Amino acid sequence: MRIIGSSKGEHCLYPFQIDPIYNGCTHGCKYCYAANIQYLYGMSFDQFKETDTQLLRKRLENPRGAMGEFIKRKHPLRIGGMSDPFMRGLNVEKTYEVLDILNEFEYPHIIVTKSHDICDAMDHLNPKLAQIQISGSISDKLCKDIEPGASITSERIAACETLSDNGFRVMGRIGPIIPMWADGAPWMEDNIVCEGVDFSIPEKFERAGAAGLILEMIRLTPWMRKNLQSAGINIDATITDESVRKNATIFYSLETRKRYYENLSYTGLPVTYCDMDMWNTATDGDCCQFEA
Ligand code: SF4
Repeated sequence: MRIIGSSKGEHCLYPFQIDPIYNGCTHGCKYCYAANIQYLYGMSFDQFKETDTQLLRKRLENPRGAMGEFIKRKHPLRIGGMSDPFMRGLNVEKTYEVLDILNEFEYPHIIVTKSHDICDAMDHLNPKLAQIQISGSISDKLCKDIEPGASITSERIAACETLSDNGFRVMGRIGPIIPMWADGAPWMEDNIVCEGVDFSIPEKFERAGAAGLILEMIRLTPWMRKNLQSAGINIDATITDESVRKNATIFYSLETRKRYYENLSYTGLPVTYCDMDMWNTATDGDCCQFEA
């Protein structure tokens, strides 16, 4: 359980998080931010470490300090920042323990997952407390190359439908959006340089009962670029002089990001952007579309 960054969490719901497994993830996404951090610190990402659930219980029983302020006002706890809480091929008992404690304390939470296995957790999920973000942005075929351990996108959409049918508020999290064209180039069939986002996914989420969409463009560290290139994704061809470099991380130009967001916003669902240049949480509210 931790608070990331200096935010007090008045608007953005992201900073307050817990990971039942706080190191390691079997999904093996080639763009994984958490794996990248471990790599930078020279640490392994395949040694799984479990969180101390008794500490979670103590924190909820006796809220103190900065974290206590979050807890007292029941700021939603995000599950799934540094690993997927429903990792495939791994025992998810620790996730169930976390959920059971949160339910006992009637504590609201946001679960982020790329796994259909969340549908097996109904006994541990309370629709009054749990709001779920299902991530998916690419074709099933591409999942096998760059999210090899996760459920394929069509299985995740099916999970969205099952959860929605069971009364859960589910968001379609379309991210990370991998571009298809070079940054700043015109969008034409004959100049696609990279296999990227699947534009049919918003309507699939809508048909599956999602309550809204959250859009997030990929940003690239050197490690992520190398991984994606090695997986056969020609991400280097999408980076141009229009792209923005900040501390060795590459962001696509604002115009390009806007264009992807607009072109993925064609359904009747409410849309928010997990993008600091496009969504001001101080004035626009949180982009998780959490409903208290
Ligand atoms: S599911 Fe999330 S934490 Fe797991 S490998 Fe993929 S990006 Fe990383």
